[in-house]
Amino acid sequence: MRIESLGRRALYTPTTHGDGGRAHRARYRYAAAMPKPPAAAPCPCDETRRYAACCAPLHAGEPAATAEALMRSRYSAYALGLEHYLLASWHASTRPAALNLAAERPAPKWLGLKVLRHEPDGDRAQVEFVARFRVGGGSAQRLHERSRFVREQNRWYYLEGQIGD
Ligand SMILES: [Zn+2]
Repeated sequence: MRIESLGRRALYTPTTHGDGGRAHRARYRYAAAMPKPPAAAPCPCDETRRYAACCAPLHAGEPAATAEALMRSRYSAYALGLEHYLLASWHASTRPAALNLAAERPAPKWLGLKVLRHEPDGDRAQVEFVARFRVGGGSAQRLHERSRFVREQNRWYYLEGQIGD
């Protein structure tokens, strides 16, 4: 289970230092080639929005306009298993080497996201949210997290999060 990877400080050293960001861009291209829900499908982050008009452009490499939008796209990426997008949107200073989402047995089923607060402050931001998920036949659980984000060269990145109520 790697639910805690949504918020826990990464334990690994970054792997893309010194390549001028090429690995980063390659990851975005790879993410764009991943299978996606149909254009009219609801977005995992908000069932009242269409995926194609919500998180899909970000998963295809478009910069998120706000830290909240990035946070939503990362939730949707967990729901869709877009590991490369999760790594690409993770700041290099805290990014894990891998998440191994595909190896999770049973895989968590993400049930919904509620953003409680978005506090932008220049090139930093905090987003507080509750994500609900279920693992196997268990009852629904909630993950309450305050995530921190940083913006560099017009792109928001996830830094780390604090879990708890
Ligand atoms: Zn969305």
